[in-house]
Amino acid sequence: MIYLDNAATTKLKKSALEAMLPVMTENFANPSAVYLAAGKARRVMEEARDVLAEGINADRNEIFFTSGGTESDNWALLGVAESLRDKGRHVITQKTEHHAVLNACKNLERRGFEVTYLDVDENGILDPKDLEKAVRKDTVLVSVMAANNETGVLQRIGEIGSITRKKRILFHTDGVQAFGHIPIDVKKMNIDLLSASAHKIGGPKGVGLLFKDTEAELPPLIFGGGQERGLRSGTENVPGIAGFAAAFKDRDDAKRVKELRDFLETVILKEIKGVFVNGNTDERLPGILNVSINGVKGESVLMRLSSLGICASTGSACTAGSGKPSHVLKAMGFSNERCNSSLRFSLNGENTKEEMLETVKALKDIVEDFRKILA
Ligand SMILES: *Cc1c(COP(=O)(O)O)cnc(C)c1O
Repeated sequence: MIYLDNAATTKLKKSALEAMLPVMTENFANPSAVYLAAGKARRVMEEARDVLAEGINADRNEIFFTSGGTESDNWALLGVAESLRDKGRHVITQKTEHHAVLNACKNLERRGFEVTYLDVDENGILDPKDLEKAVRKDTVLVSVMAANNETGVLQRIGEIGSITRKKRILFHTDGVQAFGHIPIDVKKMNIDLLSASAHKIGGPKGVGLLFKDTEAELPPLIFGGGQERGLRSGTENVPGIAGFAAAFKDRDDAKRVKELRDFLETVILKEIKGVFVNGNTDERLPGILNVSINGVKGESVLMRLSSLGICASTGSACTAGSGKPSHVLKAMGFSNERCNSSLRFSLNGENTKEEMLETVKALKDIVEDFRKILA
């Protein structure tokens, strides 16, 4: 199998598994208990918190463990909206966000909020000046992702952070694709809230975090026993948390992944005519390549690749199979045809040059086949 769908999820790293096993077997105790074994579990969890906090230049008290990126996004948006609803009911986001943010915004609209969905340009980038213009007196929150899951395009979150700080508005960023792949400094970038998830960086599924600046007010979304300093109840997923930190420590070499992605891109463009790269090619994650291939359907190419053991995607896992054109490519102003002919290859540190060559060879055959049928 050639696995090129790392933006959907990753294989658990060996280092992550090794960190998880002892807290599932020997030190399985509930970290809230009083005996020695509980203390050990607690220590593992707190060490993980330190590692992950340091990774974004946050304080350990600003890290809250959750069940993943979706929960973190929902908590940030619904939580801030609730705590600030008397101050204002306007939220700003942009059109290429993940559905965890977009659908949370839809929910806010049902709760009486107004949401502005800003446009991006044909490269997938939101102009921070457009954001500045969209700010109103009643704006309480801006949510703009750090990196897009379909195209890998990076938003200018440093610039956005200076705007929101100047205007005294809270800034949330969905950092699920960016965290562990590109450097993030929440202090320098003036980020108040950041979502991250373990399974996009070689950690286990079902665990993530929300970074919350000490000054940002956020009520709990989940009520219960008062874990995570009263803000996120439920017995902590200690193995998941341990695996998350271990995967982060053992994160891929971005330079190597980028070289491999650039190699794949170069060979595809050279071998197959009528291919267009979607999204800004400079301001992009190291591991993602999104292309549209003239005259073919992405879904059909994907099936044929899959029958050869090559795993790629047409975009986000949520739109795959729905038959709807990607909302991300649509927002970039592309025709339905260009959207429906798109493919996403997302790489990680384990992929090889040989795999890239094999993929392009298969892709070339498939595309030629389809074009012949259609000609
Ligand atoms: C995967 C992803 C999410 C959802 O994270 P889960 O941990 O799977 O809930 C949110 N945002 C982005 C950008 C993602 O890629």
